Amino acid sequence: MEITARRLEPALRGEVVESVLAPGINALKTFDPPLHALEGRAFTGVRRRGKLLFLELGDVVVLLHLMSAGRMQLHPKRAALRDKTSRLLVRLPEGRELRLREFGTKQAAWVKVLRAEDVEGDEALQGLGPEAWPDPPPLRELLDVPRPLHSLLRDQQVVTGIGRTWVDEILNVARLSPFKRGDDLSDAEADALRAAMASELGRVIERYEALVDLPLPEKFPKPTRVHAHQGEPCPNCETVLEAVFYEDYVMSYCPHCQTEDRVLKDRRLSRLLK
Ligand SMILES: [Zn+2]
Repeated sequence: MEITARRLEPALRGEVVESVLAPGINALKTFDPPLHALEGRAFTGVRRRGKLLFLELGDVVVLLHLMSAGRMQLHPKRAALRDKTSRLLVRLPEGRELRLREFGTKQAAWVKVLRAEDVEGDEALQGLGPEAWPDPPPLRELLDVPRPLHSLLRDQQVVTGIGRTWVDEILNVARLSPFKRGDDLSDAEADALRAAMASELGRVIERYEALVDLPLPEKFPKPTRVHAHQGEPCPNCETVLEAVFYEDYVMSYCPHCQTEDRVLKDRRLSRLLK
């Protein structure tokens, strides 16, 4: 989302919206102001908070969340209207088009059109934790609850901006077990975790800076070394990485660096170790 905002900001600023369509009617969660209130307005800014993207057009703001399968792209040409992945089409001069598309079967991505003064009060922003990047907050007290790090760090109310993929990378660099509880962290471990958060998310952004350009890809590169790399060597110690498989995702870790050489093969065992 960070790189999406960085690429869209300079490309959209000052551009005037010609027309807007929301073909995936379920994606649009608000009706006042109406979608057509965007027409004739110029973009004044694009920014990110957590996984939310803000398209600012003066005193009207489009707030959106891509969820897991949504993609935002700025195309030089308009989409075919029968493209079933289209959720929001913002038409710009010279045939260009800002497009929110969503792949897969679920319709989870959403869009809200809000008055600028109502944005901060929107429920999507309520309770969001401090940003994990670029300057993560001190973690010792923030994480002082009896929950495993793997779920705690992905909880946007605790700290915002970390998903399933990067939590594995961060915990590996910090050499902490995904099942270690937040309230079991020593000061040194909390510091290591904070440093790993800054360095790993920074590494990802740096890769994106080098690899990602407009119109923005349908599939972003994932510069992972640990997540979903089970069976491959740990980037730190070369021990074979292991994984715990959940219904819809995988959690990968290094037994040597992170779990005192214990292999947590499945979910039941993992539960016992919480
Ligand atoms: Zn290792």
